[in-house]
Amino acid sequence: MLCRIGDVEVWRILESNDPFKTPEELFPNAGADVRDIIERHVSGACCAQSGKLILPVQGFLLKTPDHLILVDACVGNDKTVPSTPDWHQRKGTRFMDSLAAAGADVADVDYVLCTHLHTDHVGWNTRLVDGRWVPTFPNAKYMLPEADDDFFSEHAEVLYSESVSPVVEAGQSERVSAGHMLGDYVSLIPTPGHTPGHVSVLIKSGDAEAVITGDAIHTTAQLAHPEWHFKYDMDGDQAEASRRALLGNAAERNQRVLGSHFALPSLERIRAKGDAFEWDAD
Ligand SMILES: [Zn+2]
Repeated sequence: MLCRIGDVEVWRILESNDPFKTPEELFPNAGADVRDIIERHVSGACCAQSGKLILPVQGFLLKTPDHLILVDACVGNDKTVPSTPDWHQRKGTRFMDSLAAAGADVADVDYVLCTHLHTDHVGWNTRLVDGRWVPTFPNAKYMLPEADDDFFSEHAEVLYSESVSPVVEAGQSERVSAGHMLGDYVSLIPTPGHTPGHVSVLIKSGDAEAVITGDAIHTTAQLAHPEWHFKYDMDGDQAEASRRALLGNAAERNQRVLGSHFALPSLERIRAKGDAFEWDAD
């Protein structure tokens, strides 16, 4: 178990933890010293050989007293992603092994929530069986942020047909927007910008709160530099505003922050510092 938030257990479902792209490419407005700044905040953040930022791809399994909820479904196996060779037609076992290590069977999962509909968050929605894409989680409701569903159904034909359409056609999908609750402990926070319908996830149990960022933020260094845009933010200014609001709320409410792509263990408490934030080492 990664952590407990009141009555909710949080388990990390790790698919990969590999070098991705260089910091200079990923944070285009961060300036020439972006690599040094990231390394100062997170030692070992970049691969010594390639210089690329190491980017975990992970979901989080939430065990509430009532439900099993998977937040984000990583890249998946056999998917068509030629733009990212490491993700193209993967044949990995780590995601399913992590799920088993958390004591969960695919049939046990009640909800799959995609924070947004990018490749590395929807992959295990489906798997290839006898040449057909079928829902990986046969009894789950798949929660799709509706503004993303609108956009990606129009603009990402391969991704949508492999990883989203099969759960829609199986009658297992539900379009949701910010404010939606999944049971009594988990709700969706609006963090648009990275994608139009991007949501982050609030876990609340008694006085304990945590937030799963999704792709509202990508590295601990962005706590100090929330103005850094990410290469794949569709609307960088809106993403920055969402990031600042999310972090401001997390600092104010003393929430634990689960950074979906933060260096492992991807778990921090933060506090405000000037007009930015810092990791609260206490
Ligand atoms: Zn991502």
